[in-house]
Amino acid sequence: MSAESKKAHNFIQSLIEEAIAKGEHTGKVVTRFPPEPNGYLHIGHAKSICLNFGIAETFGGECNLRFDDTNPEKESQEYIDAIKTDVEWLGYTWAGDVRYASDYFDQLYEFAEELIRKGKAYVCALTAEEMAEYRGTLKTPGRNSPYRDRPVEENLQLFRDMRDGKYQNGELVLRAKIDMASPNINLRDPILYRIRYAEHHQTGNRWCIYPMYDFTHPISDALEGITHSLCTLEFEDHRPLYDWVLENVSVPCRPRQIEFARLNLNYTITSKRKLKRLVDEGHVEGWDDPRMPTISGMRRRGYTPESIRNFCDMIGVNKAGGTVDVGMLEHAIREDLNARAPRAMCVMRPLKVTLVNYPEAQTESLTLPVHPQNPDMGEREVTWSRELYIDREDFSEEPPRKWKRLAPGQAVRLRGGYVITCRDVVRDPQGEIVELTCEYDPATLGVNPEGYKPNGVIHWVSAVDSAEADIYVYDRLFNHEAPDSDKEGDFLDHLNPESLVVIRGARAEKGLADPRTDIPYQFEREGYFFCDRDKTEAAGRPVFNRTVTLRDSWGKGGK
Ligand code: ATP
Ligand code: MG
Repeated sequence: MSAESKKAHNFIQSLIEEAIAKGEHTGKVVTRFPPEPNGYLHIGHAKSICLNFGIAETFGGECNLRFDDTNPEKESQEYIDAIKTDVEWLGYTWAGDVRYASDYFDQLYEFAEELIRKGKAYVCALTAEEMAEYRGTLKTPGRNSPYRDRPVEENLQLFRDMRDGKYQNGELVLRAKIDMASPNINLRDPILYRIRYAEHHQTGNRWCIYPMYDFTHPISDALEGITHSLCTLEFEDHRPLYDWVLENVSVPCRPRQIEFARLNLNYTITSKRKLKRLVDEGHVEGWDDPRMPTISGMRRRGYTPESIRNFCDMIGVNKAGGTVDVGMLEHAIREDLNARAPRAMCVMRPLKVTLVNYPEAQTESLTLPVHPQNPDMGEREVTWSRELYIDREDFSEEPPRKWKRLAPGQAVRLRGGYVITCRDVVRDPQGEIVELTCEYDPATLGVNPEGYKPNGVIHWVSAVDSAEADIYVYDRLFNHEAPDSDKEGDFLDHLNPESLVVIRGARAEKGLADPRTDIPYQFEREGYFFCDRDKTEAAGRPVFNRTVTLRDSWGKGGK
């Protein structure tokens, strides 16, 4: 199946198609991806990105990237830069320049004054506690604020004084005048503006009042000519407010808000707040730690943009929530890398093998395909020599039945090389095996002589012509299926203590001394591994991150 044919037809696409067919929607489809720059993007955001950019692509429209930046204290330029990098890396291009809700602060302010003049907003001096008390509950209606009926002129003056810095944080707020008895709490005179003396990453100290999300979002959408404002289900109850704002100010168009279910993955946290805790409290190396479900972490781990986009296609888009098995994401990356990753050999726990019948000073160059099914990917050279390394785990002195690897007296083929037979083991004074004495069969390069079939095939490297490497074996960060479901405990209680095991002194075939950094390798029989540029530079030798195992071995005792 091609990636194209796998693309599911989602319900939002169907809604737009129906609207076009009925003539209700004419002109271009315009969507937006509106991240708040208060953290790095995670796999949940990837779903929203693929949906918003995907819908625009499907209908020949456009998708904007807009930073929803109304909370200056929690936001930063670092997050803005990281988000732009991630969206581009996923393969999407936003229409025109990057946009910021803060670009519209002047217009938002004017729209707020418009509401005041229409008698639809007022300045309120209730404290936060009082306001909570006046708000009522799900079962009881709220009560009107004593400031609700201030005259328009007084509201205008107070709002301007708020803007001009005549009041302190929290002293006054601007509220919409809607309905304190509404069954929808979002409509009980929600706050539109609050006072915050905070420097803003885009507007500096120009403002000491900042608009709230529910006021900013619909107006920003309208100013950008967004036709379909796609957001997650928790905003369903905010839709009446979204529509109220657009009905009551003179904006140029009426975007339509459509909600879809968030992506939840088992064994994974997708909340920026919690991911930030992992970073701030040092449980991981940073936002781009390869165990993080962030786009930058997955990139560093070796995930490809194609695999993430395919995953988003596989899971589809719908109204019903639910949890997706993280195994599906792992399947998507395996599928992509199986088809495209160059093959290589790397011995994780080297055990020396000496071929007693191979001449001491001699070596020979063997040619192996870069990819067994794809000759276009070319060939690679590995060196055969008298001294080799195999993995300790591929030798057993007392092998179990049906052992397909090396054992005393048993023959095994070394991948792409000759068949060898183990004759003896050499031990150190503590009794540990430090070397195997073997013989190679010169008639077996690429062929099995008649009547003779070695037991199995194992990987190996030359001891004299290979590269030393470090391997970071990453595994799932949490060992609990729903790490944040635990009502008593904390999601941090479920960190997997074995999410990282570092192997130093691995030996990789010589070509890996200068590894590719554009795609992971498949280390034969071990999994997929991606060169970590920063760690490689720091270590002065190649360092690889394990992207994913060859098979799904989670919880099945696999390595
Ligand atoms: P978080 O809960 O991690 O803080 P957020 O929703 O506050 O996420 P935003 O930066 O506001 O993060 O999100 C930008 C867009 O991405 C929004 O439209 C949001 O609905 C969407 N989004 C965030 N998380 C998910 C998710 N898990 N699945 C799908 N879409 C998501
Ligand atoms: Mg948000």
